[in-house]
Amino acid sequence: MRILVVEDEKRIADFLSRGLESAGYAVDVAGDGRRAVDMVHATEYDLIILDLGLPDIDGLAVLQKIRNRKSSPPVLILSARDQVDDRVKGLEGGADDYLVKPFAFVELLARVRVLLRRGQPTPEKLQVGELSLDCIRRKVTRAGENIELAPKEFSILEYLMRNRGRPLSRTMIVEHVWDMDYDGLTNIVDVYIRHLRSKIDDKWPVKMIQTVRGIGYMLDEPERAEKSS
Ligand code: CA
Repeated sequence: MRILVVEDEKRIADFLSRGLESAGYAVDVAGDGRRAVDMVHATEYDLIILDLGLPDIDGLAVLQKIRNRKSSPPVLILSARDQVDDRVKGLEGGADDYLVKPFAFVELLARVRVLLRRGQPTPEKLQVGELSLDCIRRKVTRAGENIELAPKEFSILEYLMRNRGRPLSRTMIVEHVWDMDYDGLTNIVDVYIRHLRSKIDDKWPVKMIQTVRGIGYMLDEPERAEKSS
């Protein structure tokens, strides 16, 4: 997986490429917009991380040039502009996600992983250990036992299962499951996770939903999760 980081601030660019490389990705850095456009034409990237405030052309213009190509990788915008308007412009311009500076690297990494996973076929039935979820019939069972979930609980579980083994931040869960902007209300995720746990985990000795300190939550078979931690 090759990622292009478009960032003019050397300190941030170094921090990002070091972090992403130690997470196992190949990383190229472009220090300005023109160079970024050239690199996108010359190389196939799996993801582009794009700063908006660039010295030559604006990040949104870079985004437009990337999007004009026949096939273009997902774009994660990274910006100090935290106005809702900028966020909307970025997403309308074809960005797939938007992260405001300053950010925690773990949050960035979680978003990168989800974006890189997109585009892969989405199965109608998800299975993690003894937990299975039927996306069409909206049925959940654990070890063959039926579990009744409220719609939001179902959506959260589906999101966690689709991203098994990947930590998802509270913000990501809120943005994925609720349509409106629940900014600052990420506590609601904890409430729903409690409900979910009481239904899919509490009575079983093996727990599927894990709390990931500093990020949020992850779902996996515990043996696998232990091995990878
Ligand atoms: Ca900048």
